[in-house]
Amino acid sequence: MEFKQDFFEQLEGFYSQVYPTPISNPHWLGWSAEAAKLIGNPVADDDLLMQLSGNIAAPGASYYAQVYSGHQFGGYTPRLGDGRSIILGEALGDAGAWDVAIKGGGPTPYSRHGDGRAVMRSAVREFLISEALAALNVPTTRALAVIGSDLPVYREDQETAAITVRLAKTHIRFGHFEYFCHSEQGSATKLKQLVDFTIKQHFPHLSCDRAGYVQWFNEVVALTAKMIAHWQSVGFAHGVMNTDNMSIIGDSFDFGPFSFLDTFKEDFICNHSDHNGRYAFGQQPGIGLWNLQRLAQALTPLISSDDLTSDDLVAALNTYQAELVKHYLALMGNKFGFSGLDGGSDANSENASSKSSELTKQQSEDLKLIGQFTELLERNHLDYTLAFRQFGKLDIASQHSSLRDDFVDLAGFDDWYQAYQKRVGCVDDLALWQQARDNCNPAYILRNYLAQEAIIDIEQHGDNRKLKQLQRALATPFTERAEFEHFAQRPPQWGEGLILSCSS
Ligand code: AMP
Ligand code: MG
Ligand code: MG
Repeated sequence: MEFKQDFFEQLEGFYSQVYPTPISNPHWLGWSAEAAKLIGNPVADDDLLMQLSGNIAAPGASYYAQVYSGHQFGGYTPRLGDGRSIILGEALGDAGAWDVAIKGGGPTPYSRHGDGRAVMRSAVREFLISEALAALNVPTTRALAVIGSDLPVYREDQETAAITVRLAKTHIRFGHFEYFCHSEQGSATKLKQLVDFTIKQHFPHLSCDRAGYVQWFNEVVALTAKMIAHWQSVGFAHGVMNTDNMSIIGDSFDFGPFSFLDTFKEDFICNHSDHNGRYAFGQQPGIGLWNLQRLAQALTPLISSDDLTSDDLVAALNTYQAELVKHYLALMGNKFGFSGLDGGSDANSENASSKSSELTKQQSEDLKLIGQFTELLERNHLDYTLAFRQFGKLDIASQHSSLRDDFVDLAGFDDWYQAYQKRVGCVDDLALWQQARDNCNPAYILRNYLAQEAIIDIEQHGDNRKLKQLQRALATPFTERAEFEHFAQRPPQWGEGLILSCSS
């Protein structure tokens, strides 16, 4: 692995240098060949295992933990920082550089009361979901590997520690800007340094002046909206959308008690500690905006230095809803096979309303049709992913739909189906249309109970074969194969809507 050290060299004062604590008996539990390709295909040998477990030094690595703060469940925590994640540097690949982080590498100056470690179940889940979301084309951080160990750690019970090796185009979070806004008492010097670094590294087409800052914040709004549109379309609940878990480039980030929907449920809560459903599935779009508002607030010190105005920030925030709807409609329209989607919904917004929150007539009708369908799924207790997978088998012109048999409320379904058929219109080549549906409606998602089955095998027998098999299925989620049949089922009763503890 070859590193550059731009963050480390250019942002002194934004991190603490800290070395990982060695861990006993490290061993590979999982490895992602796809992620490895991003950083020049390192070989998963013993040397690399020792480096990535923090037991020996990696050549060229700097080792640091970043400082940031964040709004957690609505309340501001003035200092968080990487309490258990240590960054080695930016590994070079063909298409850019990726931060390599050892998550669970031992205590840092930001560990507070924590032990700096991650339990195996949470490391395995982060490994699997990072790669699964990437395969679903959802913007996300990646995971190169998950490394098991013998080290005991204590949560509700004694468990074993493990490490996720995370790859991220950046680890800069909304919380970074909040920290340097609120901790500097009026001076915007460091905040500006951070904004300039972010722009130069991750938005290189923009300039570091007033016009560039305005455009940058607009792009952050758009990237965040796009990420959340993806989550809503695949039925993914993140679970902990605190501002310290929001990446500045709109990558899904920092996975804890996340869950895909099994049965569709708008108010599904996956996080055991989320008593009020702040981060329920259907709340995510609104929380995305709330978090962007906190980011905008953190940028206000730049206003007094005349680099931005509050009108600029408000105008950008006002584009959020339309951006989200635009991406959501394009993604959902593709799942359903709506016609006239080429070029996304940009195509039908000639009246320059693409940036306003006003919906076109077609957009409103599509949203209604989508909402009616998810309502039907909820009322009929149907699985979100499996229902959409059926669209690849539909004979769209026929009166009898193969989907129909799954519904109890047949009249409700028939009404909806008529409107749906009308919206899809004439299909020239049915096989091609069905293939297009299969190419965007996955057969395999990371259901919590499947992760749980893989984790139990590792816990009880040190056996990672299920993990590897699940990883293979999730790597090509749109291609059905007989050997993975088990992964394309509704969960058994014990695994339905599994709610997970936040402890990790
Ligand atoms: P999270 O909920 O995982 O996003 O973590 C929130 C904050 O708690 C971050 O600052 C983490 O670094 C920190 N944290 C979580 N778990 C631990 C741990 N076991 N040891 C030290 N810090 C932790
Ligand atoms: Mg976090
Ligand atoms: Mg975390």
